[in-house]
Parts: sequence; C-alpha cells; structure tokens
Amino acid sequence: MPLIVQKFGGTSVADSGKILAAARKAILARQAGNQVVVVVSAMGHQTDELIALARQISDHPPAREMDMLLSTGEQVSVALMAMAIHSLGCQAVSMTGAQIGIRTDSTHTKARIHSISTERLRKALEEGQIVIAAGFQGIDEQANITTLGRGGSDTTAVALAAVLKADICEIFTDVDGIYTTDPRLLPEARKVSRISYDEMLELASLGAGVMHSRSIEFAKKFHVPIHVRSSFSDVPGSLIVAVPEAPSLPVCGATLVKNEARVTLLGVPDRPGTSLAIFSRIAARHIAVDMIVQNVGSDGRADISFTVVRDELPYTLQAVSQAAAELGAEGVTHDEEVAKVSVVGLGMATQTGVARRMFRALADANVNIQMITTSEIKISVLVSRDQGLTALRTVHRAFALHEPPPVVEAAAAPAPSNGDARAVVARLHGMEDLAISELALDESQARLTINGIPDVPGVAARVFQEIAEAGIFVDMIVQSTGRAGKANLSFTVPQAVFPQALEATRRLAEMLSCGSVTSSPRVAKLSVSGIGMRSHTDVAIRMFRALAEAGINVEMINTSEVRVNVVVDGAAGQQGLCVLEQAFADVRA
Ligand code: ADP
Ligand code: ASP
Ligand code: MG
Repeated sequence: MPLIVQKFGGTSVADSGKILAAARKAILARQAGNQVVVVVSAMGHQTDELIALARQISDHPPAREMDMLLSTGEQVSVALMAMAIHSLGCQAVSMTGAQIGIRTDSTHTKARIHSISTERLRKALEEGQIVIAAGFQGIDEQANITTLGRGGSDTTAVALAAVLKADICEIFTDVDGIYTTDPRLLPEARKVSRISYDEMLELASLGAGVMHSRSIEFAKKFHVPIHVRSSFSDVPGSLIVAVPEAPSLPVCGATLVKNEARVTLLGVPDRPGTSLAIFSRIAARHIAVDMIVQNVGSDGRADISFTVVRDELPYTLQAVSQAAAELGAEGVTHDEEVAKVSVVGLGMATQTGVARRMFRALADANVNIQMITTSEIKISVLVSRDQGLTALRTVHRAFALHEPPPVVEAAAAPAPSNGDARAVVARLHGMEDLAISELALDESQARLTINGIPDVPGVAARVFQEIAEAGIFVDMIVQSTGRAGKANLSFTVPQAVFPQALEATRRLAEMLSCGSVTSSPRVAKLSVSGIGMRSHTDVAIRMFRALAEAGINVEMINTSEVRVNVVVDGAAGQQGLCVLEQAFADVRA
C-alpha cells in the first residue's frame, strides 16, 4: 500500500478549526488508499511563547530543561490532531518522539537524529491507524527529551518518510509552494514547479525559511520526493526532487538574511595554521560561522572575514580576540549592521557572466558590496542592512526571477530507489552523520588579487565586466573588507588565459586607483563536498588542520552548504589532496 507522510506547520494547526481542516486532509489521503503518517508542529506561535516564558524565569535556562519545555508544544498538537481524526470517524494514534523511537545525540536544542525504529509505527499503520507524530523532538541514549532546532518538524517529517520509504512527503504550510524568494519580502516572487535538492539545500541554508535545511539533506541522501503545498487550498505546490524545472537557468532563487554580523581579523600572518587557530576557537564555543572569506594578503599578511548570527557576536568577539592576540594580528573589526543577499542556481556552474550580472545590477542600484563569496551554485554578497531589501529586489529583477523560465523541461524519471527496506535502515545508523562524497583537486587555475580596492559601489561590477569581455570564465571569487575603507578582491581563472587576465586586471587596478595586483600563475583548488557540510562545522576545521599539519598555507577559502573550497600554492596540490584523503577517510560516503 502506498505510504504518505504529511507535515503541518504551526500556522496550519493554529486553532481548532485549522486542526480539523488538517485532519480532513489526512483522512482523504487514507481513504484514497494510502497509509498515512502525519507530523505536526506546535500550534501557532506556541514555541516562541514557551521560549519567552523561559526567558522570564532565567536568562540562561539549562538546555535540557528548554527541551523538556519546548517538546510540550508538539505534544499538545498531536493529541488534538488525533482527537480531531477520531471525531471525524477515523482511527488515529498520537506519538511523541520517544514513542516513535527517534533517537538523537544529546546536543540539547539542536540535536541530530541517530536512528529511528520503525516497528511501532509500522504496527499502527498496519492496523489501519493514521499515526500522528510529534515533530521536532526525540530522545537521547539516557532517555532525555531533545529537540532538533527551530523549524525541525520538517526534518522529522522527511526522516520518517526516509525510514518508511514513503512515496511522498507532503509539507503543508501557509504558503502554496517554494517561491523564487520569500513572497512576504517581494510580492513579485514566482512559485516554482520543481526545484532540485541541491538548490533548495543552498536556499534553505542561505535564509529561505520555508524548509529546515537539514530536512533537505535527508531528502537528498534518501531520495525522498517532497511536495510543499498550502494547508488552506488544494492547488498543487512545488516539488523538491533531483532535477529542477529548468536546469540551465543560471539562478533559480534569491535570499536575504538580515541578522548577520561581520568580523574581520586584519593583518593575520599569512602562514599555515592561522585559519585553524581562529575557527577552532569559535567552534569550541558552538558558534556557527557563515560566510568565511580569506584573501591572500600583500606583504605576508592576510585579512580573514566571516559572518555570524548577530546574537552571537559578543561571544564570537571574545573567541576571536584571543586568537588575534596569539597570532599577532593587526586588529579586529566588526560590523553589526549588515545583511546577506544570495543567489542560487545549478546553471551558474557552467555559465560565464553570472557574477558580473549580479554586481552590475547592484552597482546600478547604488548598493555597495562589502564582502563576496561564491561557490559552484551560489553567490553571496554582504551589504549594509538598510540596503538589504533593495539589494534583494535588485538581484531578483536582474535575473528576471519573477518571469517563468523560457524552457521548462519535462519531469525526470523517478529517482533511483533506496534499495530494500532493511538496507535503508542499516544505513540509518547515524542518519545525520557527515557523509563526504568527493575530495577533489583542480590544478588548472591561476589566482589574481587586487589589493586596496576603494570600498564604493560598482568596482566589482567593473572588474568582472572587463574580465567577461575578455571571454574569461571566473571560478572562485572572494572579496573581503580590508582596512580604512579599502577591500581586497581575489578570483581564479584558467591558467591558459592567465596572461590576458593579469593584463586586464592591472589595467583596471590602475584605472580605479587601487593598490597593488598580486597573482599566482598556478594554484591548486582543493574541495571537500558532501552532505551536512555547514551543519557539521568541523569540516572546514578538519580541512584546515590537515593542511596546517602538512605545512600547507591556505590562500583563499570559500564555503557553501555542499562544499568547502580552499586555494593553496600550485606546488602543494597533490600533497594537499593526500592529507585530505587521510583526514576524511572515516566519513567517506
Ligand atoms: P511552517 O510553520 O508551516 O513550518 P514556516 O513559517 O516555517 O511555516 O515557513 C513558511 C514561510 O516561509 C512562508 O510564510 C514564507 O514567508 C517563508 N519563506 C521564506 N522563503 C520562502 C520561499 N523561497 N518560498 C516560500 N516561502 C518562503
Ligand atoms: N515548533 C518548532 C518551532 O517552532 C518546530 C517546527 O515548527 O518545525 O521551531
Ligand atoms: Mg517551518
């Protein structure tokens, strides 16, 4: 019998009427001949209210007790949902995370799922019950209640869909699908019919709050098709699957994150081990680092910038000032008034001029870019917070995201099956463990750096305009805020076009009154790709440690949800790859 997992978010179960409406959807699915598991979130803003209540008691409530408190929200809604289904004449049973058998680690308030036992669920389903599962919660080895992090019910739903080999996981929410950007921010946003796991993973991790990013990691790992749709209507929503509606489109969506803060370490000695010294200190305080941007410096010193959630700035500064003192850095600066705007698209991996288009549009809108970081499928820029929305609107328009794509390709064949159920469950041990799918070495590129770029709108646009006109494909781009209103901009190009690129860059640097141009005709790019790269903050650190221990200096860094890239000296590439192979041997997928 087909099996469906349906998840209802907070707004979708905010009152008794809505709970009854959701119950009817579950019953319809059951009557259509499916086994049905329903995952529910806490009603309305219940979780926020519980957090506020805890804060009234204590500024630093123990994390274990927070989980005890927060898990009650979902316990209320599952019971009410089961009652609603009974009242409509069908059979249902509600279960907490512990009763379902969702085992997690003990990281309270952001626990990761280790395993799910399916026996009790299966038994209830086979008896014809609709199973109502509490989202967002589990238990650890000692039977303490844990929660999975805000928005975590999506992850419960997709994880259950994975273990039960569901035919589809339906996410019912207050919006009728995935849009090109948050429709609350830009009314002109367009609903997409299909989006790929990779794109959704990047969008979610870059701020698209519609899905919990870890749920997409599960979906990708276990090939779970997701249908995001409205709780309040029956219109078809958006599918999250392996292949998007228009794979050749350079950009499929854009995001804005308003609560970022930037930290820069100025004049860090440019030698092996510095990134490790900084980021291991931050990770020790469990602070998640977002954009990391390191630029080769001039005169043997580099500037390293990164962003964190604004609330975590004070702790971050404490960690960083220790590292800065030990490393003999020239100073630390920070800015709390910043926002991050990103564009994501599979097509940009193979097309030239995507960055130029974004930077040109921002320059024309008079938006100054403070920091840039790119990966194969995303470009993020940091801008001042008061220009965040303008920047989002500008890039959304620049890539015509409000318009339907010119060619929508037919839906692809269904994803390969997961294999037999036992094999899937066997793989589930450590469901959310890090899985590294690829370690790669690219020795085909050269690096160019312009130092002392005036920190005003339009410079990046000019640079990449010129480079694109010379027909040069730019791969990694990294721009950081430097000192005294000057920025550094590094990028990599194919070695074959290095001479032309260098000439164009020197000409530009002179024209724009920048500082020196430095370059390296042969660099090596080392990449670690996989699933769980950002949520497992230790990936970058493991990488930095392995390279530092081998005495290899990191010249450029950029990170994304699915990959960490570093650029090192061209002669150190092979050795770098070897040490990374060793460092990640235990987590190769
Ligand atoms: P739920 O409570 O159902 O989990 P959420 O509030 O977590 O709902 O997610 C739905 C919200 O996500 C929408 O109301 C919308 O404002 C926001 N959102 C952000 N980015 C997007 C996007 N790209 N597409 C659709 N909705 C988005
Ligand atoms: N109730 C939890 C939250 O508000 C989990 C969820 O809704 O996904 O974050
Ligand atoms: Mg949500």
